Amino acid sequence: MALRMSTLFLRTLREDPADAELPGHRLLVRAGYVRRVAPGIYTWLPLGMKVLGKVEEIIREEMARIGSQEVKFPALLPREPYDATGRWSEYGDLLFRLKDRKDADMLLGPTHEEMFCLAVKDMYSSYKDLPLALFQMQNKYRDEARPRAGILRGREFIMKDSYSFDIDKAGLDKAYDAHREAYIRIFNRLGFEYVIVQADSGAMGGSASEEFLAVNPNGEDTFVRDEHGYAANVEAVVVPQAPEVDASSTPAAQVHDTPDTPTIDTLVESLNANHPRTDGRSWTGADSLKNVLVMLVHPDGTREPLAIGLPGDREVDAKRLEVQVAPAEVEAFEEKDFADYPMLAKGYIGPGVLGSEKSSKIRYLLDPSIAVGSAWVTGADEPGKHVIDLVHGRDFTADGTVQAGEIREGDVAPDGKGTLTLARGIEMGHIFQLGTKYAEALGLKVLDENGKLVTVTMGSYGVGVTRAVGVVAEDNHDQYGLIWPRELAPADVHVVVASKDEEVFVKADEIVRGIEAQGVEVLYDDRRKVSPGVKFKDAELIGVPTILVIGKGLADGKVEIKDRRSGERREVEVGSAVAEVVAEVQ
Ligand code: ATP
Ligand code: MG
Ligand code: MG
Ligand code: MG
Repeated sequence: MALRMSTLFLRTLREDPADAELPGHRLLVRAGYVRRVAPGIYTWLPLGMKVLGKVEEIIREEMARIGSQEVKFPALLPREPYDATGRWSEYGDLLFRLKDRKDADMLLGPTHEEMFCLAVKDMYSSYKDLPLALFQMQNKYRDEARPRAGILRGREFIMKDSYSFDIDKAGLDKAYDAHREAYIRIFNRLGFEYVIVQADSGAMGGSASEEFLAVNPNGEDTFVRDEHGYAANVEAVVVPQAPEVDASSTPAAQVHDTPDTPTIDTLVESLNANHPRTDGRSWTGADSLKNVLVMLVHPDGTREPLAIGLPGDREVDAKRLEVQVAPAEVEAFEEKDFADYPMLAKGYIGPGVLGSEKSSKIRYLLDPSIAVGSAWVTGADEPGKHVIDLVHGRDFTADGTVQAGEIREGDVAPDGKGTLTLARGIEMGHIFQLGTKYAEALGLKVLDENGKLVTVTMGSYGVGVTRAVGVVAEDNHDQYGLIWPRELAPADVHVVVASKDEEVFVKADEIVRGIEAQGVEVLYDDRRKVSPGVKFKDAELIGVPTILVIGKGLADGKVEIKDRRSGERREVEVGSAVAEVVAEVQ
């Protein structure tokens, strides 16, 4: 049945809502798809339910295709399973906790690995029961620190979460690949630009993990990619190890008193004056090396700042890294082309890296052929002190990961071949090989072919369902309103009666019935007391991709079909209106 605007629970807004940060979100509120209740908490109105339902349907179809079965767990959960896996405490403030009347601890599920694991443990006991894949479409609760951009980061949101259960790694690999393929089909159908990136598995633990990021400048994730197809969330970028250094040829690391070390401001100033960046930007406190100051130490002992990085609000005085230089090695370096790293081209000599930091991570730029590395160093963490002659591999080790902001456009890719470009993305899906971590913690074992008990190996796979609606809105709008991709639109065609003449309404009713008889969904603006101008504005705001206008032209036997995206209009004979609309939307 047509959605009739005369009775639809809808009130469009001409003004932007005060709290809305992003254009797509503003339009979802203005066009009456969602309404904010509290930060990160939204009500879905009838038009929003239509779109949400279509996203869910796409996901259900693709899950069914890989043989995953739908279930639904409660959102209100007991504490114990989350204690067993350590997540009751690990989740910290993100977890919504509550007590029941008997004072027992409860939580609102942020994700459901524990519950799925326990359900399978309850019901299954043999390798013959596996493989198994289950999913649910469910409200999740996370007390996000910065609920943002409406439904993109909710505190209550819908996730499709799936879990796979296998007897061995080969089975897990197969399940993971099947989900990866399903996700590719889902995100292709949802119709936004996305990349698959290597991901940090974060609190989940486990091994292989990839994210599907919608490419979007407003995204909270940063990813890198190169010309050879490498792509990774910066959280997960694995950089090569620093080069091996012959420790016997360098003196032992030692702590130096350097009370005359310049302040960070002097250093930034001097750096910009003496070593301007080649990319036209200026060095700032946040550039390049986080927490760290790189000093060029000339053979005569004078020091010069080379690169600086500090985390903004943290104290930096105690955190230093120096570079010692011998003239011969400077020359050797300058033979290479390191235009993007003037400080490296001029300064670095392998074994001379000095560093100190309050037992936290020092990031350093090391060999220019690899550009970025990281290390743990302790000691000499007071102002006016340095550690000198630290040797990588001897005095500290690299852990091979880098954080956002430290990788720059043009850096060398981890394989040493490609050149990295940076972009922002919104995490839409995440697939993990959990392995046996949860099954071990909760005792999920089955008997194998030889009657031996083995721990089940699991995968977990999530899609942000409500977030997907938000991302599609961000990607599909103009200044007048939303423009839905056909597969997600709340209706296939928006029929507008642009007249107050009752005869026109009668004709329009007939056309709407005709269109619906062909299985096409209609949003029907049959409002009697609303002007054509307001109806046109609402149609543009709501964003159904095809608009059929029935109005003045009817006197000459014509109606108008408008394409919302291109703005193109064409007149068609009223007698062929149904056929034309049906052809257009299919
Ligand atoms: P993010 O990095 O954006 O915080 P996440 O890594 O915490 O997401 P997962 O635990 O991997 O999220 O959950 C699976 C999917 O659920 C995510 O890929 C994302 O699409 C969606 N999602 C996560 N948090 C939210 C949220 N607060 N609001 C809406 N969708 C979310
Ligand atoms: Mg998160
Ligand atoms: Mg994430
Ligand atoms: Mg994730």
